Amino acid sequence: MPKTIIGMVNEHLHKNLTLPLVAINKEGKIILINEPAADIFKTTAKEAANKRLWDVIDDEEFNKLLFSVIKEQAHSVQDKLVFMHSSSIYKAKLIPIENKDKRIVAALTILEDYSNMYNLEKNIMQTLTEISHKLRTPLTSIKGFIDTLLESNLSDKKTMRNFLSIMHDETSRMNTLINNSLTLGSFAGAMHAEKKPVNITDIIKQAVLVMQPKINEKKVGVKVISPKNELYANINKDNFIQALTNLLDNSIKFSSTGRKKGKINIKVTNSNGAALIEIEDNGIGISPRDKNHIFERFYHVKNDPANKISGMGLGLSIAKQIIEEHDGTISCRSRLGKGSTFTVTLPVIS
Ligand code: ADP
Repeated sequence: MPKTIIGMVNEHLHKNLTLPLVAINKEGKIILINEPAADIFKTTAKEAANKRLWDVIDDEEFNKLLFSVIKEQAHSVQDKLVFMHSSSIYKAKLIPIENKDKRIVAALTILEDYSNMYNLEKNIMQTLTEISHKLRTPLTSIKGFIDTLLESNLSDKKTMRNFLSIMHDETSRMNTLINNSLTLGSFAGAMHAEKKPVNITDIIKQAVLVMQPKINEKKVGVKVISPKNELYANINKDNFIQALTNLLDNSIKFSSTGRKKGKINIKVTNSNGAALIEIEDNGIGISPRDKNHIFERFYHVKNDPANKISGMGLGLSIAKQIIEEHDGTISCRSRLGKGSTFTVTLPVIS
């Protein structure tokens, strides 16, 4: 039988359209599937033709989505329905096909691979969250110093100068954080920042100073125990202070929740060419199950009363990223109800 013009146009459209298309009839049988769609579902147009959707396509979510048009007699076009297949993300447009009695007798879907856009959106969100997390510590610290200054009688010029100098350093650090984030687009990119030999005890004391308003507010006792010989490591100061303040922030937060007084010991020792920095608190501790996940991005410990206060589950993952960029490691020992010790190792300069 000679082909009609419409038939020929359909055939070419079908062959040349790069958007994946699938259509089913009211029994759920595939009446059209083009090559791009067949590739996604690892079949061929020939193999799939006239077979039931469920016998050909091994994706319950997609099959249900497409068949819902017929099952629910959904008369309007539905756009932008997102579903995952393998490791890709698709947007599906669902188009009902009606007969003259307004019964839906077939359903057509046009798919769009949305993975790149989705990942881009996710990266933007993650970067924004990381930037806000990074800015929170210096901002809290500056606010704490301003509050203390406002409450004092401002006659002690030496303390005032000291506070202003810390606030100055913290604003510079915020500036660097913003510049790094803006120019490099992501936190990971900002990691390859310049490093210089730095005295490890000094940088710890600097981080404690940054956290002083919070330490005072929570009435936590903090002790820094230094080694006999000074230890130096190649450090990017801004990033490393960020890592230390994230760890200290948690120790302060989680050691001041109970009735006992919060105590934090930060001990620096030399262990076979590596510096060990142990940050020990006597706080609520972490269960063995949670301990396996705390360094993951956005991980929260459930039923944790302190999490009501703040936290996005980013502090430890940022700290780990920074420490690894310094060729170091981070690990945690903890007992529920007894406290936690975070150990950071860093190669020292001999
Ligand atoms: P956040 O930025 O929300 O504080 P983190 O990545 O820093 O998240 O920490 C992840 C989780 O690990 C927290 O929700 C907390 O429950 C737990 N955690 C981290 N440090 C400590 C600590 N010193 N004591 C008890 N729990 C801790």
